[in-house]
Amino acid sequence: MTGEPQDDCLFCKIVAGQIPATIVRETDTTVAFRDINPQAPTHVLVIPKAHHVDAAALATAAPELAADVLRETQVIADEEKLDSYRIVFNTGSGAGQTVWHAHAHVLGGRGLQWPPG
Ligand code: IMP
Repeated sequence: MTGEPQDDCLFCKIVAGQIPATIVRETDTTVAFRDINPQAPTHVLVIPKAHHVDAAALATAAPELAADVLRETQVIADEEKLDSYRIVFNTGSGAGQTVWHAHAHVLGGRGLQWPPG
């Protein structure tokens, strides 16, 4: 059920502290941690603590929580001193989503091409 922790979800396990992550920020509703396979000098993932499968489900079921995630991406960008950066929500396997718990990628610290691949 959306919002409830899922036993088979990697990011729910990070939220629960059951697997390690390099956590850079935590709020009542969100966690931010460094991507294990960084694609830029700064590559931080911001997730809602509650389980929602992707950004679309999050925005539909819990728009205030989606706003929390987006707000945290800006805090991360400030803390990492990024003046140019990209926020990415891969949504669906065709867009490269591999973890089925909504997450925002915060990417910066190098030049970023447009359009992305
Ligand atoms: P997606 O491809 O948009 O779903 O992004 C999932 C991201 O999670 C990828 O960039 C992975 O490198 C990252 N990732 C997978 N497992 C872990 C982990 O255990 N810790 C931190 N990041 C992870």
